Amino acid sequence: MNAIRYDFRSDTVTRPSADMRQAMAAAEVGDDVFGDDPSVNRLEQRMAAMLGKDAALFVPSGTQSNLLALMSHCGRGDEYIAGQNAHLYSHEAGGAAVLGSIQPQPIAHQADGTMALDDIEAAIKPDDNHYARTTVIALENTFGGKVLPVQYMQSVAAIAQRHGLGLHLDGARAFNACVALGMDIAVFTAPFDSVSICLSKGLGAPVGSVLVGRQDLIDKARRHRKMLGGGMRQSGILAAAGLHALDHHIERLAEDHRRARKLAEGLAAFAALTVTVPDTNIIFVDMERQLGARFTDFLASRGVGVTGRYGQQRWVTHLDVDDAAVEGALMVVAEFFAVEAQ
Ligand SMILES: *Cc1c(COP(=O)(O)O)cnc(C)c1O
Repeated sequence: MNAIRYDFRSDTVTRPSADMRQAMAAAEVGDDVFGDDPSVNRLEQRMAAMLGKDAALFVPSGTQSNLLALMSHCGRGDEYIAGQNAHLYSHEAGGAAVLGSIQPQPIAHQADGTMALDDIEAAIKPDDNHYARTTVIALENTFGGKVLPVQYMQSVAAIAQRHGLGLHLDGARAFNACVALGMDIAVFTAPFDSVSICLSKGLGAPVGSVLVGRQDLIDKARRHRKMLGGGMRQSGILAAAGLHALDHHIERLAEDHRRARKLAEGLAAFAALTVTVPDTNIIFVDMERQLGARFTDFLASRGVGVTGRYGQQRWVTHLDVDDAAVEGALMVVAEFFAVEAQ
């Protein structure tokens, strides 16, 4: 395996910039389990204010953030509704079921990534002792790099309200959605009781997510965070990276989106590749399975990192991918198809 020169595997691969490291080194810290870390407190207050919510909680990962949200909305034997491919259902090791005794009710996605409103409504259980108690609906936006319509989120919120359910947003990349829409994050997240935001994806922080929401939910989440081993001490070192990211790495997400479009256009020039036009920083590329295996191996041998080997690749742009990386990767792609044509 050659060293990766151009790393499109994920926006989690970014390394803290020199300026971010400086902010981390200079961070004022205290013991956050005692509530004494000024940098963590600043990050939590800042995120709560940005989203127009009561409170926030700094946590080690997006996975823990989603789990804490579900455990705060739900008790043992309750149920959450989420998309079949929602990260919190399908990519978090079943944590809500294992650790929270919370049952998932997955719903199939439509072609555009949304769940049909009728399907959501039909999955809400009546108050009957045969059933788990439906307690919360969880949405994800962006979803696979797609920005789902704000109107859709509002329609689901209306269903939640009508049935007295909570509403959670896995907004791991909500800032990408807001930059793409030109929308304030507080407006985007207004319908939700709780929102999880990743600092360690496109925002470029080394570690951390923030759960933001209603005071009673965040209070419960703080207790659950301790229980799950997520109570950290001088975590202001990490929070300082998050604060730096909020100051310097939000507007620039537009550059990742621009580069993703450029990359998508370049890839779409090859007839064997079916490329989704990205709303944000994630591109899916479909191709015939065998070709896909050869293509991904070739890219790896030339130092271009992507994920997905058989039939569908994922390419992600981020802080550590510049214009030269996009051009360089496209030259490797051209080289592959020149060899294939022989
Ligand atoms: C990455 C991601 C998470 C989980 O974040 P980790 O920090 O990797 O645990 C949750 N939801 C979505 C949509 C993600 O992309």
